[in-house]
This record gives sequence, structure tokens and C-alpha cells, in this order.
Amino acid sequence: MRKEITYKIKKNYPLILAYHRVCEKKSSERIASSVKQLKWHIQFLRNRGFTFYTLKQWLNGEVSSNSSKTAILTFDDGWRDNYELAFPVLKKFGISATVFIITNYIELDAMPEGMAEIKGRRFLTLKMINEMSKYGIDFGSHTSTHRVLTKCSSQEAFRELANSRDKLNNLLRTNVTTICYPKSQVNDRVISLAIKAGYEYGVVTQPFRKQSNGLNSPLALPRVGIYSTDNKLRFLIKYLKYLWNNSL
Ligand SMILES: [Zn+2]
Repeated sequence: MRKEITYKIKKNYPLILAYHRVCEKKSSERIASSVKQLKWHIQFLRNRGFTFYTLKQWLNGEVSSNSSKTAILTFDDGWRDNYELAFPVLKKFGISATVFIITNYIELDAMPEGMAEIKGRRFLTLKMINEMSKYGIDFGSHTSTHRVLTKCSSQEAFRELANSRDKLNNLLRTNVTTICYPKSQVNDRVISLAIKAGYEYGVVTQPFRKQSNGLNSPLALPRVGIYSTDNKLRFLIKYLKYLWNNSL
């Protein structure tokens, strides 16, 4: 039986930022933000009165409901630089974040065979995941192998969803309820399979509901994607768009 997925994005919807890699210096790799950019974003939001939470804290209602200034940092794929470079920044600011793991990639020192190799593309180790988890970083699934679920058969998609969740549950001894869909590709069929696999929430990187394929569901929560091209001005524009949409 499919759960009711109608969900209205209400006022006070948090600013959920979606990062991938974090590099020491500005990189031409689209999915890489620099340490300097990350620090600047956190400071920018902090200066405007934002408080940082993990996705889990917000979903569990640990955020004051009248707080209109909630920010959530999320990192996709489980890159090793999240531990080496982003984690020290988070600790310095005393804030937490949410990381979405491709579970079959844990411990990999390079991209799996057949996939483009780019310098520094390594993935989190178990030890790193445990240390981050102990600090308060929250982990969700980004499937087992990052396949685009809308293009998989239902059986394959279910396997990607269920196996990755089982693996994380075992590793972290927790109940993972959040899925981040590879390439943000999701439809009603994938949502049904995600629910069947035990997920209650899902995230996409499509800023606001008008752009989120008409989906209006806790299994398709919109985030704001942050890329290497997001200089201060572009970040400011994304921030203002968020404020505008949140005030409607
Ligand atoms: Zn991804």
C-alpha cells in the first residue's frame, strides 16, 4: 500500500544546499566547490542569522518550527575530500551536515572501471564515515552504484534502493530513511519503489517545486545545487531566489 505522498512545501522550508566534491582550490570540475567557497557560504548564511542543521534533525522536527532561517548542507556521492577538506570546516564552524553515500563505492581509491577518472576522485572509507557519524554527520543513501533509477527496470531500481539502505543500516546501526536520487532523476514509479524499500524522504536538486517535475512529495524534497561556477554573485542570486520562493 502506497503511503500518502502529498506534501506542501510550506513557509519556513529550509535552504538545503547540495554540494558534491570539495577541493583545496577552485577547480574546473563542475561538481567541486573550493574550501574557500564553502567557508564563504557558511559565513554568509551565518551573518544573516541562519542556523545549520542536518536533514535528519529537520525531518525529525528538531528545528524550531517558527525558525525561518534554517540551512542544511548536503554532500552527494561520498567523496573522500568531504572528510579531508569539508569536515574540518564544519568542525571549525561547529556545524553538521548530511552526506549521501554510493554504498558500493565506499573505500574506492579511484572511479570504478569504465568511468571517467578525474584526479582526486576517491571515496570515503568506513573509518571516515564512522568518525563523521560520531561527530553528528547524518548519512543517507545515494543508491548502490549511482544508476539513474528512472532508466532501470523496477527490479533493478528496487535492488539499488534496498541494498544500499540495508548496507548503511548495518554499517551505521541506524535506520536510514533518506534517499538522494542519482542525477536527481525521479518519477512516481521510483518514488513507489523507494517507499517499498523503506525510505520516507527523498531529495532532488531542483531548487523549487515549480521546477521539480510537478512532484510535491517528502520523497522529492528540493535542494539548491552549488557548483564550481557559483561565484559570490551567483550564490547571492540563488539565495535571493530561495528567499523569494519561500515568501510566496
Ligand atoms: Zn551523485
